[in-house]
Amino acid sequence: MKVGIVEKPGVLTLAEREIPKVKNAGDVLVKVKRVGICGSDIHILHGKNPFAVYPRVWGHEFVGEVAAAGAGVKSVKTGDRIVVEPITYCGTCYACRQGRPNVCADLKVFGVHADGGCAEYVIVPEANAHLLPEGLPWDEAALIEPFTIGAQACYRGDVRQGDYVLVMGAGTIGLTAASLAKLYGATVIVSDLVDDKLAYAKSRGADFVINSGKEDMPKRVAEITDGMGPNVTIDAVCIKKTFEDAVLVTSTAGRVVELSFNETPSEIAPVNIIKKELTVCGSRLQTKRFPVVIDFIRSGKLSLSGFVSKVYPVSQMAEAFDYTEKNNASVRKVLISFE
Ligand code: MN
Repeated sequence: MKVGIVEKPGVLTLAEREIPKVKNAGDVLVKVKRVGICGSDIHILHGKNPFAVYPRVWGHEFVGEVAAAGAGVKSVKTGDRIVVEPITYCGTCYACRQGRPNVCADLKVFGVHADGGCAEYVIVPEANAHLLPEGLPWDEAALIEPFTIGAQACYRGDVRQGDYVLVMGAGTIGLTAASLAKLYGATVIVSDLVDDKLAYAKSRGADFVINSGKEDMPKRVAEITDGMGPNVTIDAVCIKKTFEDAVLVTSTAGRVVELSFNETPSEIAPVNIIKKELTVCGSRLQTKRFPVVIDFIRSGKLSLSGFVSKVYPVSQMAEAFDYTEKNNASVRKVLISFE
């Protein structure tokens, strides 16, 4: 079978491997149909992900059909269409005991710490296989994982009905967070520097958009919220200034959610957190968000159509990475197809 491997930083190859066999009673063999290219996959390709171990089969956003199931598997059967939740955890460390296995001390992310989904066949534990809503096209199903990241940001920010939510950044993750915030009944403001991205955010239901390169973002946000400020600010940009702005503009009793591994420090005075009693938190991967996103799709409330920019056959994997990198400002999601 074909597998996409980052052999070492900078070297992406399409290799041949034996099709794996189900050995454990609780495992499922998945015939992969689509795998999405994430910004983090590009970081892995360039050696910029500190957690990646090489060589590595890349891909954590993947969907497919159950090709075989171990004797103990109950929740899925051969032929079922599934999306794979790409993390495993110990279940016993402090984070796991708090119900936060996404930050497990022994966390393994497929495509990062363990082999991922860019392969014709992949073995995953039964617990990682979630049934897809009936009839959902593969190209849309591959977006479920990115939408779980947006769902996690809303969960961490405790987005509630009637809240004002500011999403900084209209890239893939910002868009998913904005979509989920709308579903939770918030009024959503999206800021970015690129007008096309803002127009797309608006077409997906954002109530207000702000080009922070052309407009005074804090002033606009104050106007929109009648001086209160957004109750939740989701920072999907995470540069020095966005984190600083997030703390400044968020309302009293509000929440600030940071979403990236950027290492550049921001200058934030404690008084600006304390006087408003802000909750400032990180949102990493997701926990228990697959059923949430799948239920929203199943009930018809969340549409994933029109989100994919381009689909490449696996034979053109290198071109797909190239296209994604070169069109960073316009690409929402590029997929690899195994059909
Ligand atoms: Mn991703």
